[in-house]
Amino acid sequence: MLIDTYGRVATDLRVSLTDRCNLRCTYCMPEEGLQWLAKPDLLTDDEIVRLIRIAVTDLGIEEVRFTGGEPLLRPGLVGIVERVAALEKRPRMSLTTNGIGLERTAVALRDAGLDRVNVSLDTLRPDVFQTLTRRKRHEDVLRGLAAARAAGLTPVKVNSVLMPGLNDDEAPDLLAWAVENDYELRFIEQMPLDAQHGWKREGMITAGDILASLRTRFELTPEGQEERGSAPAERWLVDGGPHRVGVIASVTRPFCRACDRTRLTADGQVRTCLFATEETDLRAALRSDAGDEEVARIWKLAMWGKKAGSGLDDPSFLQPERPMSAIGG
Ligand code: SF4
Repeated sequence: MLIDTYGRVATDLRVSLTDRCNLRCTYCMPEEGLQWLAKPDLLTDDEIVRLIRIAVTDLGIEEVRFTGGEPLLRPGLVGIVERVAALEKRPRMSLTTNGIGLERTAVALRDAGLDRVNVSLDTLRPDVFQTLTRRKRHEDVLRGLAAARAAGLTPVKVNSVLMPGLNDDEAPDLLAWAVENDYELRFIEQMPLDAQHGWKREGMITAGDILASLRTRFELTPEGQEERGSAPAERWLVDGGPHRVGVIASVTRPFCRACDRTRLTADGQVRTCLFATEETDLRAALRSDAGDEEVARIWKLAMWGKKAGSGLDDPSFLQPERPMSAIGG
């Protein structure tokens, strides 16, 4: 098992497949100039599948989430999903994507064994989308979402970040649209993981702000802690159900005590937490011919050193060097 000194057991593995993206969201990346990981440093498809096999076979991982950057940009994605689905202990598999290209790939991903998708979409307004992402791709995302739903990659979850002065008035509209289209909407508080290090607590839209805005139009009934388990989203039934809305309040209502996650970057580093400032190199172990047992031992040791939480409230908090685009969500 991947257990830490606080007794938490990681069963959820997030695997970043690339640090590249075809959008340039202002809260994530600068318009240009971000240094990409060098190709030889990226794990190969074989290395990724091997690490996932070790994780599910020897380390108790039950769920695998593919992330990026934008994971649909990874040429071998469908093959990786197919090979993971064929493992003896098949994990549940999902994908966090910006939705661009999903229209083309949803059926192939489902046939390969993907269970569901999370699609990031912050606005229903094409002009605001262009301001937020610096790209004109709003329609592509909507088509990707519809394709995922049609392919049965459900529940299709939509992740939205609200930014002050840009889309912070859209929470009720986004929820009405999600209910109408049968998507499960989750708002995510903006976190200090942007490459530009421009995040400011004073400027962020909080879970409290989001809920107040939603309650101007909807009746929200909280789900119990039992339904939530270790999920990062607190959820509410919308107007009595069956639709739900979630809020992931990493900053104002952290959920680190129930954290069950371990992360693998596209260049083969284990991160015990989104905000970890230290990493453990599994790629070096793989490339020096370490056996599965040795790789598992290094991974376990890394998780043993996992900190209690994000440290966001600590005055000595330091934003990790590696930006969100190279960590994965
Ligand atoms: S901040 Fe770190 S410890 Fe807390 S929930 Fe996120 S990954 Fe887990």
